[in-house]
Order: sequence, then C-alpha cells, then structure tokens
Amino acid sequence: NHSDMEDLRKKAKEATESGQYNKVMVITDGVFSMDGDIAKLPEIVEIAKEFDLITYVDDAHGSGVTGKGKGTVKHFGLEKEIDFQIGTLSKAIGVVGGYVAGKKDLIDWLKVRSRPFLFSTALPPGDVAAITAAVQMIIDSTELHDKLWENGDYLKSGLSKLGFNIGDSETPITPCIIGDEKLTQQFSKRLFEEGVYAKSIVFPTVPKGTGRVRNMPTAAHTKEMLDEAIATYEKVGKELGVIK
Ligand SMILES: *Cc1c(COP(=O)(O)O)cnc(C)c1O
Repeated sequence: NHSDMEDLRKKAKEATESGQYNKVMVITDGVFSMDGDIAKLPEIVEIAKEFDLITYVDDAHGSGVTGKGKGTVKHFGLEKEIDFQIGTLSKAIGVVGGYVAGKKDLIDWLKVRSRPFLFSTALPPGDVAAITAAVQMIIDSTELHDKLWENGDYLKSGLSKLGFNIGDSETPITPCIIGDEKLTQQFSKRLFEEGVYAKSIVFPTVPKGTGRVRNMPTAAHTKEMLDEAIATYEKVGKELGVIK
C-alpha cells in the first residue's frame, strides 16, 4: 500500500519468514510522479535493516529536484544506506538514457549480467557530452533548482487560491485533481485550446475517480507565463464548473 510503513513491515516479515527467497528487495520511487509526494526513505531503511532487505530507489523524478538537485537519497542523507539508486537522464537532466548508482560490487555485477548494458547500443557521444554538462550544471549551482521550486510554489499557491484541489505534493509536480475521467480530459483539452499544455492523467494510471491534470512547472517558466497559466485555469475551471 502506498507509503504505508506498517504494510511494508508486514510484507517484509511475511516474505523473509516464508523461507522461499534467498534475498528480498524493497523497491520504491524517490518522488512519486502522480502526486509529487516523497518516499519515506528513513522508515524504509529502518525496515530494510530489520529484515535484511536490499534497497532500491528509482529517483527519476527526484534527481535534479530534491536534495538541492542531488536527489531524494541525498535529501535524507542516506547515501550510505541505500543499496542502489536508478534514475533517468531524460527528465531534469534533459537528454536520454538512465543510470544505476550503487556499491562497487553491484556495479561490477551489473557490468557482466545486465542485458541492456551488454547487448544494447550505448549512448551516442553527443548525448553523453550533454548529460555530463547537465550534471555539472546541477553540481555547480542551485540557481535552476531554486527557480524550479519557486515556480512550483507559485503555481501551487495560485491554483489553490482559486479553489482547485492540488493534492499533497511535496515537490514542484502540481496535480490539479478534477476527479471524473471524462471531465478531466475535457478540462485538459480546453486548457490546451486556451494555450496551456498540461496533460490529463486518468485511470488506470491513477485510481478511479482521481483523474487529474498534471502540471510540470520548469525553471524556464517566467512569472508572466505562470500568471497566464493560472488565469487560463480560472477561466476554464469556471466554464466547466470545477471551481466557482
Ligand atoms: C520517467 C520514469 C522512468 C523512465 O524514464 P525514461 O528515461 O523515460 O526511460 C523510470 N521510472 C520512473 C519512476 C519514471 O517516472
């Protein structure tokens, strides 16, 4: 169950006590992409220690965003505790590809056992150069990171002041929860016609009745752009009866 630590403890206990497995792994996102909430990594690490689990964090939405840009594991100071992190190079990094970071033994093992690593074409040099430059930018300065969070907070506060349900995001991911699937799709379509591109996400990607338009503000948005987006939300929200 989502971010339910009692449930995780129960499942970990069942799996380890069953005697069926040599090793049990707990896999979690760092940042959950649909609601923008952050995994309870300190509690997960505690449970992992208690039951000797391998820990695996997919930080696709965390790298560049949480931990001052260095990701969710770093945000909680758990670099020494998490066995491995994977992430994408296609989101904050802005290119393509992915990575695994972990202990040397694990990386050595992947180099001889990982099918995509062994049998697929590697990233082209141009992409690698762009990735390296982007990572260096994240290391050198928090300017873009700070701007991203500022923009996220600005958009969230604008939408919630209008009366939209923006859920409980802890990151710049800003869902606008409409509920009904058809209405959500119609809402997104009307936004687009008015100049705001924010896609609808409905069942089965999210639970039934929690359809939402997901907004991804970036560091490149200006206040003027965000004001325009908020004004468009107001117009379409009133037109479709989502807000009063
Ligand atoms: C986007 C995403 C990926 C995949 O990234 P790609 O670069 O598109 O392959 C993996 N995991 C999570 C949690 C994601 O959100």
